[in-house]
Amino acid sequence: MSKPTKEELEFWLDQGLSQTQIAEQSEFTVTQINYGCRVYGLKTKWTHRNEYNRKLRVEGKKQCSKCDEIRSFNQFENDPRSTDGLSSQCKVCRNPYFKNWQTHNRDKTRAASQGWKKRNPDRVKAYSARYYADNKEEMRAKFKAYMTPERNSYYLRLRRDRKRGAKGRCTFVQLQARIDYYGGLCWICKAPMEAIDHVKPLAKGGTEWPANLRSICTSCNSVKRDIWPYETSTSTESRISSRSMSSLEKTISTGS
Ligand SMILES: [Zn+2]
Ligand SMILES: [Zn+2]
Repeated sequence: MSKPTKEELEFWLDQGLSQTQIAEQSEFTVTQINYGCRVYGLKTKWTHRNEYNRKLRVEGKKQCSKCDEIRSFNQFENDPRSTDGLSSQCKVCRNPYFKNWQTHNRDKTRAASQGWKKRNPDRVKAYSARYYADNKEEMRAKFKAYMTPERNSYYLRLRRDRKRGAKGRCTFVQLQARIDYYGGLCWICKAPMEAIDHVKPLAKGGTEWPANLRSICTSCNSVKRDIWPYETSTSTESRISSRSMSSLEKTISTGS
């Protein structure tokens, strides 16, 4: 195999060039340069680094092949392919690649992080406590912005219903959708809503699922109470319709 001369190689290696860098500025390939180094018994940047790393390893440290920074083992990802079981580049240098991978594998990323959180509940607790202590003002402002009166009453209601043994779950967004569906009005009399009704009452085995929730006014709510099945036609609607019927009869009987 053709190879660079010993003098050529020594000249390049003295400049601290790696085999790849030598290949970039000469007519030789990396394989040829590597071959030459082995034949002449020359130490390349790579063999230097390996020796250097071997010494560092005793102290639990390693030099990153990209940024040349000396870091402790926990600053390197695990890599079963390498001899020391760690990747050659540090986490800081690997981060852009990792972030890119994460954006293209969101499901895997989420599953992995949730799995880790489940396995390390104590560390999650400690981390969030520390984060809160470090960012108290910011966290308080964020919480204030998040906890609108609507959201607050949602959580109060949720806790109360949970205490009563309610099954199922309706998220805040789902509940808002239910309220919007009824136009923010009582589903029985169409007055402005004042509460959330369990159409099938919790006491009769009703659930917290969105389908069982509707906006209601307090007067209809107090009439309905725990009645199930609740027929709107026998109560409010019939009252309204009977009133309109009687007025209709009156107009007919007066003959106008
Ligand atoms: Zn690095
Ligand atoms: Zn009503």
